[in-house]
Amino acid sequence: MSRLDGWMAQKLGILPEQLDRSAIEQQQLDALNALLQWCKGHSTYYGDYPEQLQSLSELTALPFLTGDDVIEHGQQLVCVSQSEISRVVTMQTSGTSGRSKRLFFSQADQQLTIDFFACGLSELNHAGDRCMILMPGNRPGGMSHLIQQALLQIGAIPVPCGNDVSFAHMAQLLAVHQINTMVGSPVQILSLARYLQHYQLPHSIKAVLVSSDYLPESVRRAIADTLHCAVYDHYGITEGGLGFSIECEQHQGLHIRENDLLVEIINPDTGMPVADGQWGELVFTTLTRRAMPLIRYRTGDKARLLADSCPCGSIIKRMDKIGGRLAQLAEPYTMTELDERIFQLPSVVDYQVHYHKAQHQLTLYVLLTEPLSQWKDAIKTLLQPVLQQGDTLLVEGEMLPEQQTEIGSFYQAKRKIIME
Ligand SMILES: [Zn+2]
Repeated sequence: MSRLDGWMAQKLGILPEQLDRSAIEQQQLDALNALLQWCKGHSTYYGDYPEQLQSLSELTALPFLTGDDVIEHGQQLVCVSQSEISRVVTMQTSGTSGRSKRLFFSQADQQLTIDFFACGLSELNHAGDRCMILMPGNRPGGMSHLIQQALLQIGAIPVPCGNDVSFAHMAQLLAVHQINTMVGSPVQILSLARYLQHYQLPHSIKAVLVSSDYLPESVRRAIADTLHCAVYDHYGITEGGLGFSIECEQHQGLHIRENDLLVEIINPDTGMPVADGQWGELVFTTLTRRAMPLIRYRTGDKARLLADSCPCGSIIKRMDKIGGRLAQLAEPYTMTELDERIFQLPSVVDYQVHYHKAQHQLTLYVLLTEPLSQWKDAIKTLLQPVLQQGDTLLVEGEMLPEQQTEIGSFYQAKRKIIME
């Protein structure tokens, strides 16, 4: 039995040999009905929702919940008293209203995330491993803090680093603590890997878990080849309690946290479910969260479930890696597409893009391990197919300095796309 299935059986309170799809789905239906009853009694927003469903498929009759609904009706979605809230996350939205989305979690809600993190992290960490966490949120309840709790739960040693320190500082932590696993965003880890390679700094990393961002195949390959390590992908969003789905050692899709989350993939235009294997919008219901349950929450992320079974033997549903934000797919340039192309070049450590729409000018600033002159033509060739008609491409760049500079004194990962 796979590690994930053993964990799932334990979470569902059944014997490992009892775990099959019908057991998971029965537990999901029971949890969903318990959730509906809870919401009925504790939330004004869900007052008109039914108290009981006869099957999981009846869920499709309930309305969707959108990000705007959470902004508008946030307090009505909260089902516990203020004293039971242990964490409030405020997400800045990109809309013109400037209103932020606030999500509320209880201690018990967060413990469920820690448990899932512990399960996911145990795919690459064993007792005694030393894991550097390149994530923000070092305060209690923050992302890094939850990961630290999860690592302690499996006997590994967390080394919090944060996401806003220089490569030089990260490299020093790697050496001092003899780090052998890492958690961070994909590009941040790739940038660090190329930095280590450029300065020929030794390390003992055997595996990394990447999260917080889309993982381009070119970035996955480059991390694995540069650090000579295994790369595990994780998908997590704040609304989903940060932990959502994780790769097993087969790296063929991400197993979903089905004990806590009920996933649907819908056609974003019609709202109707799509068949397994088809791309659509990811929608989920938080089966076990109690502070602020979300029922049929539309993520805006392009996703699909994988129809075939995983070679690891697990029966837990898998999703493909996220295909990007649906709303951004219509934009002229997306980070997903640019990452996939630019990081194919082995010399690229990081980059920024400025797009000046009125002037039809795309400017790429790239940080390299070798002189720009060696790579300029290759970069232009790689980006030519995605260049919008009428746009011109300007490539500028700088090289990592010859000598490794002092701690905190130079470049930090700043990859982004700026639209004007
Ligand atoms: Zn698997």
